[in-house]
Amino acid sequence: MKNNIKITKTQSSRLSTVDFNNLPFGRIFSDHMFIVDYENGVWVNPRIVPFEHFPMHPGSMVLHYGQAIFEGMKASKGYDGTPFLFRPEMHAKRLNASAERMCMPTLPEDLFLEGLHALVGVDADWIPPQEGSALYLRPFMIATDEFIGVRPSDHYRFMIITCPVGPYYSKPVRLKVETEYVRAVNGGTGEAKAAGNYAGSLLPARKAQQAGFDQVMWMDGHEFRYIQEVGTMNIFFVIDGKVITPATDGAILKGITRDCVLTILRDKGYEVEERPLTIDEVLDAFEAGTLQEVFGTGTAAVIAHVAEISYKGRELILPPVADRKVAQFVFDQINGLRAGKIADSHQWIVPVNMDAMVGA
Ligand SMILES: *Cc1c(COP(=O)(O)O)cnc(C)c1O
Repeated sequence: MKNNIKITKTQSSRLSTVDFNNLPFGRIFSDHMFIVDYENGVWVNPRIVPFEHFPMHPGSMVLHYGQAIFEGMKASKGYDGTPFLFRPEMHAKRLNASAERMCMPTLPEDLFLEGLHALVGVDADWIPPQEGSALYLRPFMIATDEFIGVRPSDHYRFMIITCPVGPYYSKPVRLKVETEYVRAVNGGTGEAKAAGNYAGSLLPARKAQQAGFDQVMWMDGHEFRYIQEVGTMNIFFVIDGKVITPATDGAILKGITRDCVLTILRDKGYEVEERPLTIDEVLDAFEAGTLQEVFGTGTAAVIAHVAEISYKGRELILPPVADRKVAQFVFDQINGLRAGKIADSHQWIVPVNMDAMVGA
């Protein structure tokens, strides 16, 4: 432990009040949280404290100009009960890429990782043991200057809060190809996991839901031809046996599940392409009968099958989920890895360092 994280444990754990067999997503928070503050150009006072509200100045810059970024990841338990993290260093790197785009300070990777290990170690009993359940981890950073002039903040707070969550099953989704609003453009903030990107996506998502769809499929902001992502997931197509996902081009979020899926499919010998993909190519494949599978990928659901795509009044009804061999294969692989049932040939599984708890 290089960073000397001070740990103050709660006197009154809420753990016994939680039913692990009935966990609404994102509403139940574990006993502790990790905090570190940025002042005078350095990160100071890393600490784990009982989960609680914290006071904020109404002029805090994050409330006005939106310097706010986050990560979403999971801790789970192997079959032997060992808590582990999944590719935590990728999340540390992506948080810093987001920070740079939003003109926020980066966080030393070892501080991010030690904070995670220490917090998950302290709250290890909050990781639901049921297969498919997990402790959802939410690292985030906000601007805390008490000032309402427009400039980058000088003070920031980085925190990690966690929620036990049950198996997240996404029913096959009906997508509306978005032809009016855009999520991100090249040169914009789409590649950052920034809070504001979500704010901007809520209205189009709600309109799509009112029209009977589950989520929108985002298109490029110049021509509305190139496919970007779906909702808050990356997207994959299987066309004539080939697996195709849009290349990250500066407007698409670089999903860690996306990277896992690409790696697992390449390992297995699938032909995998990362390249620009137009909606016309998808329509042509559908007409030709070669559009076999479409699925979204993200940490929460891992895989969400797409049942239907609606584009300018045309309905593309995709083959039954029972026939989706590629999506089912990657889903089983990733869940098998998380459950400790499949050999981890890429060192994606990182056991939680319980020594991080010394000093508790
Ligand atoms: C977080 C996120 C994803 C998925 O990323 P994972 O690392 O796989 O969870 C995809 N798209 C957007 C817009 C996201 O914010």
